[in-house]
Parts: sequence; structure tokens; C-alpha cells
Amino acid sequence: MVCPTPPKSTRTTCPYCGVGCGIVTTVDDLGAVSVRGDEEHPANFGRLCSKGSALAETLDLDGRLLEPEIDGIQVSWNTALERVAQTFKHTIQTYGPDSVAFYVSGQCLTEDYYVANKLMKGFIGSANIDTNSRLCMASSVAGHIRAFGSDTVPGVYEDLELADLIVLTGSNLAWCHPVLYQRIVAAKTSRPEMRIVVIDPRRTATCDIADLHLPIRPDTDVVLFLGLLRFLDQDGAINSTYIDAHTAGFEAALTSALTFDLETTMAATGINQTDLHTFYQWISDTEKTVTVYSQGVNQSISGTDKVNAIINTHLATGRIGRPGMGPFSVTGQPNAMGGREVGGLANQLAAHMQIENPDHRHLVQAFWSSPTIATKPGLKAVDLFKAISNGQVKAVWVMATNPVDSMPDALQVEHALQACPFVVVSDILKNTDTTRHANVLLPATGWGEKDGTVTNSERRISRQRKFLPSPGNAKPDWWALTEVARRMGWDQHFNYHGSADIFREHAALSAIDTDRARDFDIGAFKDVSNSTYETLHPIQWPARFTGISTGQNNRMFGDGKFYTHDGRANFVTIDSPPKRQPSARRLVLNTGRVRDHWHTMTRTGKSAKLSAHLAEPYAEITKSDAKHVGVHDAELVKLHGAKKSIVVRALVNDGQQTGTVFVPMHWTDQFTANGRINTLMSADADPISGQPGLKCGAVNITPFAAKWYGFAVSRQPLTIPDIEYWATSKTKNGWRAELAGLVSLENQTTFAENLFCRPLNPKTWRTYIDASHGIYRFAVIEDERLVSALFLDRKPATASRAWLAGQLGEASADTIFLSGRGGADRPDPGSIICACLGIGVNQINAAITNSQCRTTADIGAKTQAGTNCGSCLPEIRALLKVKEGLPITQ
Ligand code: SF4
Repeated sequence: MVCPTPPKSTRTTCPYCGVGCGIVTTVDDLGAVSVRGDEEHPANFGRLCSKGSALAETLDLDGRLLEPEIDGIQVSWNTALERVAQTFKHTIQTYGPDSVAFYVSGQCLTEDYYVANKLMKGFIGSANIDTNSRLCMASSVAGHIRAFGSDTVPGVYEDLELADLIVLTGSNLAWCHPVLYQRIVAAKTSRPEMRIVVIDPRRTATCDIADLHLPIRPDTDVVLFLGLLRFLDQDGAINSTYIDAHTAGFEAALTSALTFDLETTMAATGINQTDLHTFYQWISDTEKTVTVYSQGVNQSISGTDKVNAIINTHLATGRIGRPGMGPFSVTGQPNAMGGREVGGLANQLAAHMQIENPDHRHLVQAFWSSPTIATKPGLKAVDLFKAISNGQVKAVWVMATNPVDSMPDALQVEHALQACPFVVVSDILKNTDTTRHANVLLPATGWGEKDGTVTNSERRISRQRKFLPSPGNAKPDWWALTEVARRMGWDQHFNYHGSADIFREHAALSAIDTDRARDFDIGAFKDVSNSTYETLHPIQWPARFTGISTGQNNRMFGDGKFYTHDGRANFVTIDSPPKRQPSARRLVLNTGRVRDHWHTMTRTGKSAKLSAHLAEPYAEITKSDAKHVGVHDAELVKLHGAKKSIVVRALVNDGQQTGTVFVPMHWTDQFTANGRINTLMSADADPISGQPGLKCGAVNITPFAAKWYGFAVSRQPLTIPDIEYWATSKTKNGWRAELAGLVSLENQTTFAENLFCRPLNPKTWRTYIDASHGIYRFAVIEDERLVSALFLDRKPATASRAWLAGQLGEASADTIFLSGRGGADRPDPGSIICACLGIGVNQINAAITNSQCRTTADIGAKTQAGTNCGSCLPEIRALLKVKEGLPITQ
């Protein structure tokens, strides 16, 4: 008898947001992967959100890029690497080092990032390496450096549990950093006196736990925090002892804030007097205050000033570096922090050293024994793509990111890549909106296949470990970079045999000439053995000396010493908050993430569970704005920007402010006909950080005058004809699509046959046609099981999406399938709320109404909703409040 091989477990880290949750993966003897939260990881202690929980669903090889390609032709790695190396070399020789660039990613592991930065800055001799983290937290980096003299996040996650007041500003934590949100919920449950303030133009899911929601006008945060500084002064909350001992510039900063009395602040921010005063008084009275901020602060043309306006209030009260208090930037990506450590931004050097500092340049060049070193900052992301567009940059290597979708002014970015003489793209997928512009495609290893480290928002370095074989000829990014460097003539300087070699070098560089000159120091690991690297536990930096405890909570600045020339923190004087430029377009456009998708959906789009919550792109708009533009809930709308229009579904609710609209960032040409929101967004950026203002665009909205609407499900991928609107997503056993057109269909049957790639066969096809009302329903049933179905109508098709999507492969009466709704034995679950367990809104409402469920625990016991990852609990609580007739926000 052959004994089955015991499942192999591996500790690794989630590849999505900046919380950096630990994950334990298990691979059974058939190769099936399961994931669970790592109970020992100090970021999550076993918790995972919906995205982390569904990681195993994203590991299939569908659509993977498995071999290198040149101009669409499969080639060997050697041929591809030679082409990259020789083209970069020739371009540099002909036009100089600044004629080439790398555009990398917060998805890169620290080791990948380190090699990319070393090659560009130390050997090519340009600083033209920037990263999609420019879009995520560059304003925080700039704000930190202005205030602290270093890019340091002072606090740790534990501070969120120790605080008496948490201010969440520009942060929909419930959806974007769900496990941190869950930690706060747990802390507030055990200490109900803990207060939460949410500052956000939108009423987001995070408001579920808010004691106070301040629906601030877009981009008026600077005024709000200047007003706070003035209030703290007037209320006697200023800590003069701390200011005198540890800071500089307070008087000037306060003087600039004195203009912002309550009336002025109310007028600018739109916050009413009672709420504004309450917020200010709570801050004034509460020593243990943490201010958490994220993309709503960073993604602004005044992002750096926003960050410093927040930090000023903490310095003024001395609330920094001690348990339960401090400003806290939460990064969007899994390794935004690791990228900062190695100098992955165009204006950084390496190990938190500065390009403009000749001593730092000398140190790094000597350490690398490099022939050159960049002497000035390179091009930041927006300027980089402009330089590609105008021919200044002639060769670019894009790695682990999708700028054609994620960059603002995305059409211009697309045109830039089309016009660029040489584009290399390293990716795990063959078809993205960016890979189609590549001359050379390099197959990269993905999560579970690559090996290295990432750093989360609390400066904690964790291992991302390999637990799957590399598919096809996919290779780690550090390897491809190293091979190119060798072919460019720098063999001995890039002689790495594994990620451990790179990590040791990175750690050693961080430790040179320290003597408290810099914050980032992981010298404890400069001689780490391969086996210790392999088993490395999560650790926070700074980690100067060996023997440090892995479980420590390592706060910064508790001693009042900072990394400025005089050791004092700087107050930043903010003279005049910028005003939005008047726009011909009426609505302010806000963009952001949804609960269950990640960036451009290259991974989460593979998961049926994650695609069930929100299956198509949408625009949230208020009832009054919807009435003004003449659209109703669930109709399609056109959003018009300066250069382009897109089509998305209208979601009419009053979670927005009048005059604003919210659209998610995720949908690309791979998932919808015309829904790339960043084609409407201008590239205006913060002048200091270079971070684009992705929360504050301008659009008009008009109805999309559809002649017909459709909904389809199929076990096979759909072949969608050239129509004006479609949006497709995975379901449990196949695919689904929303469809609509501006031109009446000539022949509905032919349309159905094309969509399903099969001719009409009376043996398998069932139809219901009411041509006078424009209703056509088709179902393909084989062996009494549903294979595909299409519903066409002149109005938005009324079929139950969640029910139909769940019927693929199921048996039922033909008439039931053609009705598009379940019978009493299989009721319609409604829109999916709990993605993990597939529980819909109708099931939860039934539990509330019919089974008298009054708490989320009752609903969990009755339906299981919310009992796995808990990411849907805010929505379940909102349904409970609606049923009880309570306002959704307290
Ligand atoms: Fe991953 Fe969710 Fe944890 Fe973020 S909160 S790291 S997405 S599991």
C-alpha cells in the first residue's frame, strides 16, 4: 500500500495590500493549494480578508505567460535577454544613460527591487527608475522626509489597539486594509469607549464603526488640519515642552494656521460646526490619538502638504513615538515599503540615502564598486511617461505593473508605449493592456513561485516563500535583471545565486556608516546564512544588531530624536492650500478600490468568489445628481473626461456628496468594453512628491441610450461581438457577462450563436421569444444541465444574476432556466454580500425578517454569512440598520 504524501505547509505573506498578512499555504499530494491566516504572524494573528482567503483560486495557469517572446514570437531566454541587453546598451551608448528607464512595482519583492535599482543607478548611471508606488504613497515619503529628515513610519499596528481615538482620514480601511480594520473593530468591541473618526467625502464601509463621520469636501484636508492646529493652540493642548526640546519651526507653522478659525474651516471643508468642534475637542482631549491616512491623503495635488498638516498636529502635541499615538501612513501595496528601502523611487538612492547628497553617493558607489552613480533624481512616473512620449526616453522596461490602466492620463501612457522604440514587459500574464505594447515579453514567476522578502506598513519584513514550481520558463525578476546586467558587461557585480545573496547585500548596504545617520538599518542580517534566511521570522526595522526579538514592537522617535541635521523634527509651514482649478465638467471624480478586487484584476479577476461581489464597473452617484443628468439606478451611463468617455453602470445612492462621483480603479479592457477610469483622469500631480491627484478628477455624465440590454452565463468563455458595452467576470462554473448596445440587434439568434460559439441546435437549445416586447431568452441544456443562457430585453434584463450564475452545470426544468429565477426550492440569493461563502443580500434580509436575526452573529449562525474572513460584516451591519430603520452611519 502506498501512503499518501503528507501535505506540505509553507509560511508566506499575502501579495496584496500593505497590511502584509502572514499566510500558511498547504499543497496536497494532488497539487491542490489551500490557504489560511498565519496565527503567529504579528500583522494578522491568523486573520485574512476576502482577497487573502481566495488566493488559492488565483493560481491557475490560464492566461499565463510561460515563454519569452520577441514581437509575438516565442524565443529562448538567451535570445530575449541578449536583445534586451544589447538594445539598452546601444541606446545608452547613442543617447546617454537618461535615454533608458525602468518602471517597476510595489508588487516586486525587495530583492527584485534592489537589483533593478542597483543596475539603473549604479551601473547604467541614471536615476530613471520609478515605480507604481509613486501612485500609492510618494506624498507620505515626501512628508516624512520634510518632517523627520527620513522616510520613517513611526508607529506599529499595536498602536491602533492601544489608542483611545483613531482618526481615519482618506482611508476606506474596511475595504482597502481589511485586517487592520478588523483589529480596530476587535479593540473597539473590547473597549467601547475607544472613539473612531472617519474623514472621507464618501460614506464608506469604514463608517460602520465611526463615532463621527466628517464628509469633507474633496481635497480640503489641509484646511481641516490647519484648523485643528489652531484649535489645539487655542484650547491649551500644545505641548510646549516637547516642541522646545525636539522640534523646529513651530511658530511659523502656527502663524500660518491661525487664519483657519472654525468659520473659515467650516466654509472650506463643508463640515458643520457641531461636528467640526466635536472632532477638534476630541483630539484636544485625547493623548492617545493615532491618525491613519492612506491614498485619500496621498493621491492629491496637495498630498505632501496634507501629510505635513497631519504630522504638525502630532508634533505640536508631542503625540508621536509612544504607545497608542502618532501619525500612521498605511501603504497600498505589499512592498511599497521595501521599494522605499532599496531606493526604488526615482528621487531616492538606496538604503534611505539621498541622491543629492555627495557623501551618500560616494558611500553607495564604493559599496557597489560601480563605475558610475546617478547624480540627480530621475523622472517620476508621470514625467517618465511624458519623456517616453516625447522621445527623450527610448527604451523602457516595465516590471510587474500595468501602467496603461493604472496611470492617470492613461491614453497618453498608451500612446507613449506605442511610440517608444523599445518596450520590455516582465509579467505573469500574456495579455494585459500593457503587454500588448511590448517588443520583448519576459515571463515572470508569480506569488507562490517566487522567493524573497516584503515590508509591510509597520516596517515589518516578512518572507514571501516559494511553494509551487515555476511554470513553463517563468523566472524571478531579479534573475532576469541580473542576466541582463551580466550581458551588459557587469558580470562580477551581479553574481547572485539566489534571493538570499541579494538580501545579505541589501542588509550590508543599510549598515554602512550608520552611527544613527539613517533610520533604515538591517545590519543584523548582513551575514545571515541561507538556512536562517529560509526560516526568517517577520522582523521590524531598524534591526541593527543580531539577537533581536522577532515579536517586538519597534516604535520610532520615542526618544524625541529625528534624522534631521540638528536632530529636531520640522514643523512644515503650509501657506496657502491649493484650490481646485475650475473645470468645464460638473462632477468631481473620485477613484479607488472595491472590497474584493486588486489593482487591474490580473489575479483577483481569476477568482469567481472575488468577482461575485461587484461584477462590473460602476459609478456611484447621488440621487439628486442622477436626477439632474436623467439616469436611474442600474442604468448605464457615459462618463466624459477631457479626452475620452467610458461606459459604466450607475449605482445611485447617497453615500456620495452632491457634485461628486466615485468609480473603482480596477476594470481594464480585459474585463469590459470601455471602462478604464484613468483614461479620464488628468496627470496633474503634487509638485513635491510627483504623486498624481487620483481622487479629484472632473467629469460630466450623460445617459447611455441603449437600444437593448443583455445578460449571459456560460460554462465556456464567451466570444463577445463588437458591441458598445460588455463586462465579463468569472463565476463558480464558468463566465457571466452584462451586455448592451446602441444599435438594435438585427438577429438575436445569430447574436446568441456567436456569443456561445455554437450553431442553434434544437436538441440542446431552448428559447422563449416575445418579439413584440423585444424579449429573447436562450438556454443551452445538455444532459439536462445548463451550459449557457442569454437574456435580451429592451430594458435592463431582469434575470437574477447570482441565481443564474449558480445554475451552470446544474439540472432543472427548462422553464425554470428560461424564467431566469429560481423556484421556491432554489430561491434567488440576490447580490452576493459574503464572497467567501456565496451568501446574497436576499438570504441575509430573509434571516433578519423571517428569523428575527438582530446581530451579525445571529446572521452568521443562520446563514454563515460573515463567518469566514469577516470582510462583509460592515455591509451586513448596514442591512441590519436599514431593517431597524436606523441611519447607516451613527
Ligand atoms: Fe492580504 Fe487582506 Fe491581509 Fe491585505 S488585509 S495583506 S489583502 S489578507
